[in-house]
Amino acid sequence: MLFRAPYSAELVVQGVDCTICLSPFAEGNTLIYLPCTGYHHFHEQCIIAWLKRNSVCPICKQVITEQFIRTTPITQEALRNYFTAVRRREHEDTRLSHVEHRPLAGAFGKEDKDTDGKNQEQQS
Ligand SMILES: [Zn+2]
Ligand SMILES: [Zn+2]
Repeated sequence: MLFRAPYSAELVVQGVDCTICLSPFAEGNTLIYLPCTGYHHFHEQCIIAWLKRNSVCPICKQVITEQFIRTTPITQEALRNYFTAVRRREHEDTRLSHVEHRPLAGAFGKEDKDTDGKNQEQQS
């Protein structure tokens, strides 16, 4: 699902133009927000034309599957909630990967050493 919303200064990254036509976003433009993790946005006509030829986000190359090539109107409130949810998910993913990796690596490393030491003691 693509999100379609009228241009709002609050909902675009300031100073960043549409990366397809290289024109700035302006009042009266209709923007499309992709479901990629960067919630990248483009002019409606630009991204629709792009997606007909390339099924990826022009910025982060995340695959936009066929089922997503349909648009739905979205309110600014809903869009803001969506952004917040995406940011929170990214933050949690980062924290989880830190927590999971370290204890596992440490446990396996220690186990291997202990086994080796015992075997050597028994042999000698
Ligand atoms: Zn554009
Ligand atoms: Zn993207």
